[in-house]
Amino acid sequence: MGCVKVHIDKDLCTACSLCYERLPEVFQDEGDGIATVGENNEGCFCENVDEIKEIADECPASCIIVEDVDGC
Ligand code: SF4
Repeated sequence: MGCVKVHIDKDLCTACSLCYERLPEVFQDEGDGIATVGENNEGCFCENVDEIKEIADECPASCIIVEDVDGC
């Protein structure tokens, strides 16, 4: 199974909390409700890939950017 690189477009994030409530292993609340991921808002993940993609599809601001990669 492949991996994904994930990044949040914070300018668009509405702090709805959906992503970090569903998958806190990947998404975090920056402190003001805006989502962040990994270190410096860049993360590569080989687990939870299907759920990461589902959450990106459901993000109301469409601001979770997911890129398929072969490995991290
Ligand atoms: S689901 Fe989207 S809009 Fe909601 S907190 Fe996460 S990145 Fe922001």
